[in-house]
Amino acid sequence: MMDIKIYNSLTQQEEPLRPLHPNKINLYVCGPTVYDFCHIGNGRTYAAFDVVVRYLRWRGFDVTYVRNITDIDDKIINRARDNQEPCQAVVDRFTAAMHDDFAGLGLLSPQHEPRATEYIPQMIALIEELIQHDYAYMATNGDVYYRVRKCASYGCLSHRDIDQLESGARVDVNVLKDDPLDFVLWKSSKPGEPSWGSPWGEGRPGWHIECSAMSKSLFGDQFDLHGGGKDLIFPHHENEMAQTEAVTNKPMVSIWMHAGFVQMDQIKMSKSLGNFLTIRDALKSCRPEVLRYFCISSHYRSPVMYSADALKQSHSALERLYTALRDLPDAPRLENTDFEKRFIAAMNDDFNTPVAFSVFFELAHEVHRLRSSDLERAAQHGALLKYLGNALGMLEDKPDDFLQGALDSVTINKINALIEMRLAARAQKHWAQSDAIRDELAAMSIVIEDTATGTQWKMQ
Ligand code: AMP
Ligand code: ZN
Repeated sequence: MMDIKIYNSLTQQEEPLRPLHPNKINLYVCGPTVYDFCHIGNGRTYAAFDVVVRYLRWRGFDVTYVRNITDIDDKIINRARDNQEPCQAVVDRFTAAMHDDFAGLGLLSPQHEPRATEYIPQMIALIEELIQHDYAYMATNGDVYYRVRKCASYGCLSHRDIDQLESGARVDVNVLKDDPLDFVLWKSSKPGEPSWGSPWGEGRPGWHIECSAMSKSLFGDQFDLHGGGKDLIFPHHENEMAQTEAVTNKPMVSIWMHAGFVQMDQIKMSKSLGNFLTIRDALKSCRPEVLRYFCISSHYRSPVMYSADALKQSHSALERLYTALRDLPDAPRLENTDFEKRFIAAMNDDFNTPVAFSVFFELAHEVHRLRSSDLERAAQHGALLKYLGNALGMLEDKPDDFLQGALDSVTINKINALIEMRLAARAQKHWAQSDAIRDELAAMSIVIEDTATGTQWKMQ
């Protein structure tokens, strides 16, 4: 079996995937903070890991996928205060919205979706252990901080120099901390904020300790893959690693994976900058699979530029693939082909989806080439295209459904009736009438195409 290689942000090189337990992969991806709708940048990161899960399963691995929910955070508290509603209402509403949006993008559900607030006892236990080992201390106000200088390897994931970090951190001098570099593990709560009892008084956890506690509870001291967007490398993942490894003395994760940003006008799409498009708004103007294609057709580590035009190009690309699959008879897929080998080689090479998709376009080309001379062979190529597409969660629609859009049956009947009227007009050489019907269809964004087997139509 050819090795699957994955780029490890820790070592900054591709490494063979060597499961800690035979044939088993434990993957933890940091989930969203549920205080607003997810944007397509978030969608891209989760779609990238959806491809990882699907491909590894397709190759026979037993993948356990954990994607947590951050349901306690300053942003949630502020949003609840602005809306004058309880934090729980904000969390419930945006968790439900996230599930809808992710289903729209065709994302598989994780096996576990732990919520931070369900793991408070585990977080407290971990913080107590850090204090016992002198990796953490309580400040005078009840906050607990991690002692960064005690962690010899601090900075190794983000490749930052601790002394340079120190000089940057001095700008924000917090008198409660022993050292400006130290980060918070437990925050003493202010009146009116959600809080939990702890050995250090009423308070709530810091963000980083959540993922250390949840991953340790669900996977143990070590697991195979840990992912998120690139902005999580520092400080979030650096801090997670420092926390967990301080108590386990073992490498927490075999391979750290990070997805590149979706950018808009050359800038990272983000809520705080205000340059974002939510998944649900994007899905008002394009089919879900088009957005999924946009998210996964570039390499997951590269940045990807969002524009309306980029979505149109994604639509055209998928249209080419579905057009190839249209009207093919059932046939067994070709086996042991160079196409499949190249698809696997591309995906084994750090999930190189652009190359994998180029194989799909070659297959589509073969289907077109063979269609008139050898329909059976064309159909065998088509079946392989669908099979490989399905491995990435693509090409699962019926070609007609994709090409004809999500139209209601009344509209579809009307289109078919117009096409028949046009054929009748043509048969009687009533060209003006035939052209007028074509124009009427065009006004409905319907393009028709006369082929040897009849007239076909699709949405523009
Ligand atoms: P958040 O809800 O901000 O915690 O983000 C959830 C996930 O989306 C994290 O893994 C982020 O790294 C990722 N993310 C945020 N913005 C973008 C973006 N513009 N492009 C790609 N991923 C992003
Ligand atoms: Zn995390």
